[in-house]
Amino acid sequence: MVTIADYPHLASGKVRDLYEVDDETLLLVASDRISAYDHVLSTPIPDKGRVLTALSVFWVGLLGGRDVASPPVAHHLVAARDERIPDEVRGRALLVRRLEMIPVECVARGYLAGSGTVDYRRDGAVCGVPLPDGLTEGSMLPAPIFTPATKAELGEHDENVSFEQVAEQVGPDLAGALRDATLSIYARGAAYAASRGIILADTKFEFGLDRSGALVLGDEVLTPDSSRFWPAERYSPGRPQPSFDKQYVRDWLTSPESGWDRHGDEPPPPLPDSVVEATRARYIEAYTRLTGQGWPPAL
Ligand code: ATP
Ligand code: MG
Repeated sequence: MVTIADYPHLASGKVRDLYEVDDETLLLVASDRISAYDHVLSTPIPDKGRVLTALSVFWVGLLGGRDVASPPVAHHLVAARDERIPDEVRGRALLVRRLEMIPVECVARGYLAGSGTVDYRRDGAVCGVPLPDGLTEGSMLPAPIFTPATKAELGEHDENVSFEQVAEQVGPDLAGALRDATLSIYARGAAYAASRGIILADTKFEFGLDRSGALVLGDEVLTPDSSRFWPAERYSPGRPQPSFDKQYVRDWLTSPESGWDRHGDEPPPPLPDSVVEATRARYIEAYTRLTGQGWPPAL
């Protein structure tokens, strides 16, 4: 039987840990860690790693199994159940193809939220894409847009950049392929989510190149950590929308109750049990609503 200690540890991000299985294959383990305001919090959210993993698997199947975009782009998933996955991480680990990751956060937005709202109010544009006057927090955009960001180091903040800046960084052909794939997967995902009563307001993908140089979708796919999912029945532009993600955590951290200063030097305090439980319930509800399947998943 394999254990996680059998695999060399390659890297750890805010949420996932990467291990080497062989030259071509990695083990991508989603932890229960949660990050907010560029900090990894000291309190985990039980089952969060399983939600992220099961949703990524679900979406890859739904998006087309082999190719997830049009023009065709493959995905990195090899297996979610496999004897090479140690029991101790089963359900929250994926065998994936090893890619050379492209250091661009590939964001698609169909609605105005978060840094999109901030940029729009300042520039009337997001990532250099001009938008019509009169939009407000939560507005639907005339058409989904590609709003890339640079991938920041641990603890740093991702920064929105223009398509031209991405083209300078990776070349115009690859930049165009990233944009097309991002918008294509977003459109497929948003259409399906709408059929489940959920607005996919925006999402972030990461792509890499395989050994042959082909573009491949990597990382997590359409999870509550990478996406804003809004319950359609509560959608009302002009204010922040309720969403299936870390909203409770962010709201509590910025409330007087937490005593934490977002702009100070101190790390965030531990989360109270009520916030942990409410957040866990939100993640699980995102899974059950999107997939129409019960909890826990059969991974
Ligand atoms: P965030 O997504 O919030 O920026 P992070 O970048 O700190 O978080 P995680 O998402 O926690 O990192 O960890 C996943 C890491 O694994 C990322 O660095 C991602 O680029 C990398 N990764 C994902 N899929 C692959 C793959 N198929 N091959 C190689 N690296 C991958
Ligand atoms: Mg990531």
